[in-house]
Amino acid sequence: MTVFELQQMYRQGKTGPSEVVRELVKKVEVWEPAIHSLAWFDPEWLTRQAAALEKGTGPKGPLWGVPVVVKDNICVEGVPVTCASRILKGFRPPYNATVIERLQSAGALLAGMANMDEFAFGSSCEHSCYGPTRNPWDLSRVPGGSSGGSAASVAASIAPLALGSDTGGSIRQPASFCGVVGLKPTYGRVSRYGLIAFASSLDQIGPLARTVEDAALLSQVIFGFDQRDSTSGDLPVPDYLQQIKTGVKGLKVGLPKECFGKGLDAGVKTELEKAFEQCRALGIELREISLPRTDYAIPTYYVLATAEASSNLARFDGVQYGYRFPNASNLMELYAKTRGEGFGPEVKRRIILGTFVLSSGYYDAYYGHALKVRTLIKEDFDRAFEQVDCILTPTAPTPAFRLGEKLQDPLTMYLSDIFTISINLAGLPALSVPCGFTPEGLPVGLQWIGRPFQEEVLFRGAYAYQQAAGWHTKRPPEPKGASS
Ligand code: GLN
Repeated sequence: MTVFELQQMYRQGKTGPSEVVRELVKKVEVWEPAIHSLAWFDPEWLTRQAAALEKGTGPKGPLWGVPVVVKDNICVEGVPVTCASRILKGFRPPYNATVIERLQSAGALLAGMANMDEFAFGSSCEHSCYGPTRNPWDLSRVPGGSSGGSAASVAASIAPLALGSDTGGSIRQPASFCGVVGLKPTYGRVSRYGLIAFASSLDQIGPLARTVEDAALLSQVIFGFDQRDSTSGDLPVPDYLQQIKTGVKGLKVGLPKECFGKGLDAGVKTELEKAFEQCRALGIELREISLPRTDYAIPTYYVLATAEASSNLARFDGVQYGYRFPNASNLMELYAKTRGEGFGPEVKRRIILGTFVLSSGYYDAYYGHALKVRTLIKEDFDRAFEQVDCILTPTAPTPAFRLGEKLQDPLTMYLSDIFTISINLAGLPALSVPCGFTPEGLPVGLQWIGRPFQEEVLFRGAYAYQQAAGWHTKRPPEPKGASS
């Protein structure tokens, strides 16, 4: 069920939170052996939350009784939160992230922690200490990453909603691979308090859902100013659901010519072209635009994001959190062995790369230079938004690839974020909505990019398209050999 369908059943008294939890546990039993989307799941914890909701007498919040899966890098008080890393083994946060506080005051049920690429470094959900998550549409393929567990659990209908985080595409690319909706909000729209940092100038928490209206509803709950995050934007949050159906006639949309050339999978291209035709039929004005610095986005990101990550991950030293090498004879050995054993290979690669670009003698040539190119990339978007209200691109250049296909070649893996990464560098909001299937039956995503803090335009556009296209009603078949 979507959130709106579930809420209708609640209103009509046809179900209650405890029954919903029982159904959810059944879904987990059917799907989890095949897809492994959750890093931590405890039916008793869920049952207690449902019982508390049923006993409650206060007003019912906007997500009352709605299960939400949480990415394993968002702090939930008292439950294991590990960023899918051995180094955080045994860590239970002593506090809730702001988004978790907001979910709880809205009445949501926290369904479990979702698998991810370790510390959110990756595009396939294969770099996890728990092993990979698989794509519900094709179990031989990846769900995308790094929020692969969040996207797969929503696609498999384990929960109607999930939280992910997006530093270079980690909500939108898995949403595209799994055939669900995913939004990377404007930088500063959602509090990062309690999100375990990857690259602080790029990270944002955002929703994954099966429909645009469900994503808008979850956004409404988690968006807004928070004084505990100094980069949080103090701007009002409009009522998205009120405006979502107001139509798109006359909306001016740009198609960047750099995004439809070489490297784009033929099956993806065909589905996008059909989507553009449907957009035209809805009264949207499409025109070609140019984002000339598109080619620089990936190199710029892999300098800035690794630099910030190497600094953010310095705190994992075996002293304060999680895993500690047990037999160290001195402090240096404690640090070296804890980090050597605790971090996986991709995390080590990024720490080494990030430390290198920040080191004396290289700082200006790499880090300083990348900061300047970041400004130029943002200027490309500023210029484009003088002509258009939003921009459409593919979310990813290919559909879901096979497990193991890109593991030996990090550069090819990094290229799967070619269309998503520049949005984080520019701080803009962008939403991926399902726009069809390739001939092999793999979902394709269409990315809507907007001006800062204008998420409402994305919701309105993507909703109109979704209603016309109808892809949101498709579900992957349950895995063979499932118990019920
Ligand atoms: N795939 C990109 C990376 O590996 C983006 C990850 C993310 O958005 N967290 O860094």
